[in-house]
Amino acid sequence: MTGSNGPYDTHEVFNQPPPLTDYDVFETDRCLTQALESEGAGWAHDRLSALGRRAGAHDTQALARQAHVNPPVPRSHDAAGNRIDEVEFHPAWHALMGMGMAAGVHSLAWTEDRPGAHVARAALAFVMNQAENGVCCPLAMTFAAVPALRRQPDPAAEWIPRVTGTEYDPRHIPAADKTACTMGMAMTEKQGGSDVRANTTVAEPDGGEYLLTGHKWFCSAPMSDAFLTLAQAPRGLSCFLVPRILPGGARNRIFIQRLKDKLGNRSNASAEIEYHRTRARMVGEEGRGVATILEMVQHTRLDAAVSAAAIMRQSIALAIHHTDNRSAFQRRLADQPLMRAVLADLVLESTAATMLIMRLAGAFDGGARGDENEAALARLGAAVVKYWVCKRTPPAVFEALECHGGGGYVEDSVVARLYREAPVNSVWEGSGNVICLDVLRAMEREPASLEALRGEFAAAKGGDRRYDTFIATLDTALADREGLEGRAREITGRLALALTGSLMLRHAPPALADAFCASRLADRAPPQAYGTLPPGLALADIVGYARAD
Ligand SMILES: Cc1cc2nc3c(=O)[nH]c(=O)nc-3n(C[C@H](O)[C@H](O)[C@H](O)COP(=O)(O)OP(=O)(O)OC[C@H]3O[C@@H](n4cnc5c(N)ncnc54)[C@H](O)[C@@H]3O)c2cc1C
Repeated sequence: MTGSNGPYDTHEVFNQPPPLTDYDVFETDRCLTQALESEGAGWAHDRLSALGRRAGAHDTQALARQAHVNPPVPRSHDAAGNRIDEVEFHPAWHALMGMGMAAGVHSLAWTEDRPGAHVARAALAFVMNQAENGVCCPLAMTFAAVPALRRQPDPAAEWIPRVTGTEYDPRHIPAADKTACTMGMAMTEKQGGSDVRANTTVAEPDGGEYLLTGHKWFCSAPMSDAFLTLAQAPRGLSCFLVPRILPGGARNRIFIQRLKDKLGNRSNASAEIEYHRTRARMVGEEGRGVATILEMVQHTRLDAAVSAAAIMRQSIALAIHHTDNRSAFQRRLADQPLMRAVLADLVLESTAATMLIMRLAGAFDGGARGDENEAALARLGAAVVKYWVCKRTPPAVFEALECHGGGGYVEDSVVARLYREAPVNSVWEGSGNVICLDVLRAMEREPASLEALRGEFAAAKGGDRRYDTFIATLDTALADREGLEGRAREITGRLALALTGSLMLRHAPPALADAFCASRLADRAPPQAYGTLPPGLALADIVGYARAD
């Protein structure tokens, strides 16, 4: 045998797909480009395409790999024995942070005055997630901190210009001296993450400021310049801004106990921290800390859903690419009927997720511009979409991984990393049950939010008989008050399907809308794995819709 490997030339390598690389993550995504237009942010097309090319570039993919195989390392002390409580990141992490901030993934919604700014920013986050997911955690928290900061004029005036800066600055110096700052959040304590009212951290008044003492069990991105945190003040649980470095340059008393050894999200650091008389300023009203920080949480929920949808999209683009370029039994995998059935089902799932997050971003945008109906839609929609998209992502990524065969299970493949990353979005920013209970709360306390969602359903009424039947069944389920709490997942899932159906019927190619109604709106028991769409659908068209190259 002749070949190019000299003495190692045991065999010729063939039937191995080339990597999916150097492609425009945005431009090749039909659903995303279309949703950008329909949600009123077509003006951001070129900006997204620029980030799309960077996200899909070979060099960026190399940075993402490096950031994951060289995870952050805690450094408690300097060489002289001084306590420093720093976390050291690989240069790849910093390069990716710089890329995301330069693109405005954390800031565009606040710096761009045009309608559609929230939509464009969410699309940027969707694309950036396909460069690397870990950095999207601090980028999302920095974005989301702004509405909470606005509750208090003083910190807002100082901090909003800092956190909307686009020149990433990782130096450990006072925030006022930096080109841009990032924000984290510290709510979760050992005894309770969902039930934050059980927080035990204490805030003691000290002049115009406060001194905090207590622990926080999860604090991601601990090298952020400041954290929004909850603590018990004299008049109840309140929200505080805790800078990491104090104005004179001294380190605030935030002590890193250890970093979490996480399943995924390994490029990002998540720390256990302690406050010992740590300097803080109150944000919002004393005793109204939960309401204040929920302003932030509402926006991080949007980004959790965006991140999950992006993971789904990337893994399915990879699966299509792989099966397009590999054969088994003398035939291209993607052309084999059973593989095509799997891919088509996954494309439906991913298209649905992208449509949901973009519509949700549109509602945030309308709400920010004073449209009360859109604000109401965003209130309930954030919970419904966050729950559903994050819940649907892990099994979809698993199926995309299996499309790769053994290679998908190996760390060389991007999809293995995505599989480990996938569940986190369902856990943080409100785990599944907690979100579904929030859906019930929103419908009960803010009925306008359900009416806004019903308006979306009405917009598609008459478009498909199966859809109309599904909405009628949903109305019956909503009217039944018996055992509502125990049925919260079922209700939330149906609301998500109803919203998706409306978006599909109005905006998706007919082949996809038809397949969605046939497979997702019919009561088919028992629940099936992906790849079990009903017969007679245009599977090749559906798969072709999501091809990235
Ligand atoms: C990688 C990672 C990073 C994180 N980063 C941060 C961070 O930066 N800042 C921060 O503050 N937190 C952070 N968290 C914490 C996260 O937000 C919490 O883990 C989450 O809110 C759940 O809280 P818990 O772990 O205490 O679980 P619990 O509150 O004990 O919940 C356990 C389970 O019970 C369910 N449950 C709770 N209440 C009910 C109910 N009434 N009925 C039915 N079921 C219920 C929940 O849905 C969940 O499934 C992070 C978590 C992870 C995994």
